[in-house]
Amino acid sequence: MPTIHWFRRDLRLADNPALVAAVEAARHADDQVVPLFVVDDVLWSSSGAPRLAYLARSLRALDEALDGRLVVRRGRPADVLPRLAREVSAASVHVTAATEPYGRRRDAAVGAALGEVPLVATGSPYAVAPGRLTSGQGTPYAVFTPFRRAWLDHGWSAPAPRPRAVPWASVRGDGVPGAPETSVRLPAAGEAAARRRWADFLREGLADYDHDRDRPDVDGTSTMSAPLKYGELHPRTLLADLAALSPAERGTASVATYRSELAWREFHADVLWHHPGAARRSLRDVVPEDAWATGAAADAAFTAWTQGRTGYPVVDAGMRQLLATGWMHNRVRMVTASFLVKDLHQRWQRGADHFLAWLVDGDVPQNQLNWQWVAGTGRDAAPYFRVFNPVLQGKKFDPDGDYVRRWVPELRGIPGGAVHEPWRLPAGAAPDYPERIVDHAAEREAALEAYGRMR
Ligand SMILES: Cc1cc2nc3c(=O)[nH]c(=O)nc-3n(C[C@H](O)[C@H](O)[C@H](O)COP(=O)(O)OP(=O)(O)OC[C@H]3O[C@@H](n4cnc5c(N)ncnc54)[C@H](O)[C@@H]3O)c2cc1C
Repeated sequence: MPTIHWFRRDLRLADNPALVAAVEAARHADDQVVPLFVVDDVLWSSSGAPRLAYLARSLRALDEALDGRLVVRRGRPADVLPRLAREVSAASVHVTAATEPYGRRRDAAVGAALGEVPLVATGSPYAVAPGRLTSGQGTPYAVFTPFRRAWLDHGWSAPAPRPRAVPWASVRGDGVPGAPETSVRLPAAGEAAARRRWADFLREGLADYDHDRDRPDVDGTSTMSAPLKYGELHPRTLLADLAALSPAERGTASVATYRSELAWREFHADVLWHHPGAARRSLRDVVPEDAWATGAAADAAFTAWTQGRTGYPVVDAGMRQLLATGWMHNRVRMVTASFLVKDLHQRWQRGADHFLAWLVDGDVPQNQLNWQWVAGTGRDAAPYFRVFNPVLQGKKFDPDGDYVRRWVPELRGIPGGAVHEPWRLPAGAAPDYPERIVDHAAEREAALEAYGRMR
């Protein structure tokens, strides 16, 4: 009897233990593997166009790697899977375990609907499965540094070999979905493109990563977040490549820092595993309810923030980079998120929704938990009283102003770091650039006063 490999967040053929399990089970029965992707209306209708467009391209790349055999079916997974399993007389359905709230609920429903046909989960999208690590007292980790230490001590398996000469089945499907229209300039999608980008980063970016990663004016990061989100590459592959560097290279601060960033990704997934409600609710309240701005003025400020028209150059550059590319530099994600929560006094959930609508790497655990980190409401979050100063952040991390000039054309005529404070320029120097919508110093005080009332 054949097996089904149901691709979800593992759109790759290499280092895919669940796929290896599906292939081995089919070979054992001297039968074929049905490679399946389900266009789930719940996910499709709630995802932003940039993310869907990237996903559609990634599926096309996967289909090509499968010589056109990818079976795409549209519908509720709890309907599609049992129907297909009956149609092909499948012995088992293989998946990479889902670890997020929606995926866990969906898989429980699919498992029940499949009845006698087992839904076999092998591996997860993480080097160490969320929920596996617990502290000495058997409780989840609430603080990142001990989590990272336990994560490094635990370690991970070697990458799984890519299955060769797989007997793929030919089964009719609905065809790879078309990419929705988007104004965003997308990076190349698919496993092969991700591998090329990763190889380029190892060769040209990694050595200076520790130094450059905080600089939005430099292309100093790996841009692996979208490939990791869709599972075009598994973090285990990246970790194995880092471990395979020469002893001199792998002992550098850059390698340690890169590994640590991957550990943040795993920490957030672990927190969400233990607290599924954190996708929508603050893990702790930090200001009284009445501290949040509401009404028409708040809506107008929110719109200015989304459009990159707040009058704070580094905030505006980041928000415009997001609209243009579906990606924003991590440092600027922190600054723009802090600005929304602490200068405009708006709930993190509102900003997180906007990010999810535009980010190509938009990912519930990473987006929601990073927002909670900035908002001071998460596990091991930045304390609420730490308010990012958008001017100082701009001057420190974009010292010559190149990042701002790249994304804010109204400021292109302003040389050097002066671009971070256009209000200090002679009148008329940047006539088309908006005035500041709030006074940062005053709003910082208001945020701290609200925080003080809650303590
Ligand atoms: C408000 C906010 C929202 C965010 N939303 C998302 C999101 O939806 N999806 C997402 O993948 N990342 C998110 N991040 C984390 C981070 O900004 C991106 O992962 C990073 O900018 C992606 O670029 P890169 O791959 O070049 O990163 P690199 O610096 O090359 O880092 C390598 C990898 O480490 C991981 N990583 C790096 N920083 C973080 C971090 N702070 N938290 C968790 N993992 C990290 C990512 O998987 C990244 O691809 C968010 C951060 C903030 C502050």
